[in-house]
Amino acid sequence: MTPIDRFAELNAPASWQAVDFISDLHLQASEPETFEAFERYLREPSPGPADALFILGDLFEVWVGDDVLDGPSPLTDEHRFQRDCAAALQAHSRRTPIYFLHGNRDFLFGPKALAASGMHSLNDPTVLVFQEQRWLLSHGDALCLEDTDYMRFREQVRQASWQNEFLAQPLAQRDAVARELRSQSEARKRRTGNDPSLWADVDADAARAWLGHAHAHALIHGHTHRPADHALGHGLGRTVLSDWDAGATPPRAEVLRLDSLGLHRLPLCAG
Ligand code: MN
Repeated sequence: MTPIDRFAELNAPASWQAVDFISDLHLQASEPETFEAFERYLREPSPGPADALFILGDLFEVWVGDDVLDGPSPLTDEHRFQRDCAAALQAHSRRTPIYFLHGNRDFLFGPKALAASGMHSLNDPTVLVFQEQRWLLSHGDALCLEDTDYMRFREQVRQASWQNEFLAQPLAQRDAVARELRSQSEARKRRTGNDPSLWADVDADAARAWLGHAHAHALIHGHTHRPADHALGHGLGRTVLSDWDAGATPPRAEVLRLDSLGLHRLPLCAG
């Protein structure tokens, strides 16, 4: 694991009463139900609006570069869909601040896309200081140490040199690379089963080390698609966000809300 010298901190304004966390929506044109559930949440959050929205990675299934938002006409349906997502976020951001940190799918979501979506960028991890408590926010993939192949891949693709080289390729070529990676991952899922409980999980010692370093009592993360609350000993814990798939049976779409009473899971779909 890459050592991190100093964790970023965000101090919530004293006026904030409630904040929402989501991750792993994996928004894609082929899953319109999930985008609709997200739009419904943006339009009429229940029970009432939060003062900020934190998106902890993998908002998009894939992001091949901010230039999908450029030009008068999008190249593909996926790009058109991604423009619609950016516009919905931009509209919401005029009422409620939105913070975003990268997941393993949308790590190329860059400054232009952030501006187009009206979102503020967060480092992974970031300490959120809310009502005098310190919460550590992360996507979570950097803590899944057991998956050594992925850790090597992550190390490579998070380097500026790799990213510059990739982004220098024509957009259509990057789309092709993304499709190839996706079909490899689908094939892997068919071999090993599409059951998140078989995937690598967050390493408990690494999570405790991060929390100690951050002087935080709880880690909030996504990525593993295994929503649960885990005690880590010594009063420490981690809370895992649900992934979203509003077209699944039963549908999955959940917001984690933090207010003065603590954390609450708010399911968005009936079923
Ligand atoms: Mn992920």
